[in-house]
Amino acid sequence: MKLRVVVLGAGFGGLELTSILSETIGDNLDLTLIDQNDTFYFGFSKLDVMFGHKAADSIKIPYSSIVKPGVKFRKETITAINPVTRAVTTQNGIYEADVLVVALGANYDINATPGLAEFGNEYYTFEGAVKLRDTIPDFKKGHAVVGVCGAPFKCPPAPSEGSLMLHDYLVSAGIRNDCTISLVIPFGSPIPPSPDSSKALIKAFEERSIHFIPQHKVASLREKIAVLDDGTEIPFDLFLGIPKHVAPDVVQQSGLTVDGWIPVDRQNLLTRFPNVYAIGDVTSVGTPKAGVFAEGAAKIAAASIIATYHGKQNEATYTGAGSCYIEFGKGEVARVDVDFFSGPKPFGIHHDASEALVIDKQYFGSSRKARWFGL
Ligand SMILES: Cc1cc2nc3c(=O)[nH]c(=O)nc-3n(C[C@H](O)[C@H](O)[C@H](O)COP(=O)(O)OP(=O)(O)OC[C@H]3O[C@@H](n4cnc5c(N)ncnc54)[C@H](O)[C@@H]3O)c2cc1C
Repeated sequence: MKLRVVVLGAGFGGLELTSILSETIGDNLDLTLIDQNDTFYFGFSKLDVMFGHKAADSIKIPYSSIVKPGVKFRKETITAINPVTRAVTTQNGIYEADVLVVALGANYDINATPGLAEFGNEYYTFEGAVKLRDTIPDFKKGHAVVGVCGAPFKCPPAPSEGSLMLHDYLVSAGIRNDCTISLVIPFGSPIPPSPDSSKALIKAFEERSIHFIPQHKVASLREKIAVLDDGTEIPFDLFLGIPKHVAPDVVQQSGLTVDGWIPVDRQNLLTRFPNVYAIGDVTSVGTPKAGVFAEGAAKIAAASIIATYHGKQNEATYTGAGSCYIEFGKGEVARVDVDFFSGPKPFGIHHDASEALVIDKQYFGSSRKARWFGL
């Protein structure tokens, strides 16, 4: 009997889990991978699009390239999930599974921040990054604010990266002296688990005269005014926002969530429903919302699915470890290797920004593209 697996969401987590199951179970696998889109792109590519480093279409990787034993890709929108019966409804029908894996990521609630849609911009959606690519060149002088509107948010270094890359953009446009940049984030430091990465970022902000405003969120926007959570008003001429994140509606309506996200057992990424797993940004597992952690969770969930299939005990445990790259601008990238669960508290090891790490980051992307898409 083939193992019927339905994987919801073909992002970092869904793609990694699908690849492992196909490699390991192969011909005994009947896996359906469902996503509403027909292409994948890496989150960090949106920064490249926003600053005109890459053409928008060039970052898209077609799901039609996926050819793996035991795997079918379906471009459909999931409209209901029943975790009790493990049945999933899309506009085309119903899928029933022996094992269900929810990897639907996090969505954005732009309207949760009054005025963001009307007076600001965001670079967390593909469309938002494309819009900013066309908007940023109109910014010739004044104050640019990069501001986080809610936590948790994807890729904690991304607001810092956006500020440093904006600095570079304005320098090369010859207008940096006519502009000021502020960065508003809800944490006490840019990368809380790594004091060394935080120190390096704060030094980079000081060197570039980027005004760092920690421990605050942007609560609302009026025309050319950002209002922080303590009522402070910051005038701006360009606002680059990180919108409030939420689980997709279909997940919230499924009964899987508690306080907005799906709780899972750290040992195996199982939800409280038998044979229903959840991985990546859609969970409240305790790691930041980032692709590397979604991928790490996928490996553990896959190990648990394979062990159960063979009637064995799963030996692997989830350490919540992963490496995040940080764009420092000036053609350099740093890296922080973070581990959330191995020790008594999360810790991170910082690797200074260098040109060598630019290559490392490129390999991170190209190796996933080869592994998941065969390209
Ligand atoms: C600007 C930016 C920079 C980033 N940089 C990095 C980085 O350098 N390193 C890093 O590790 N992470 C980075 N990230 C974060 C990373 O992109 C996400 O954390 C990661 O993609 C999460 O993986 P996931 O599998 O949980 O969800 P996702 O990759 O978001 O996948 C979820 C999938 O579910 C699909 N979906 C959702 N709802 C439905 C539905 N109803 N029906 C059908 N399909 C649906 C979506 O289309 C999507 O493809 C960055 C993110 C941003 C925005």
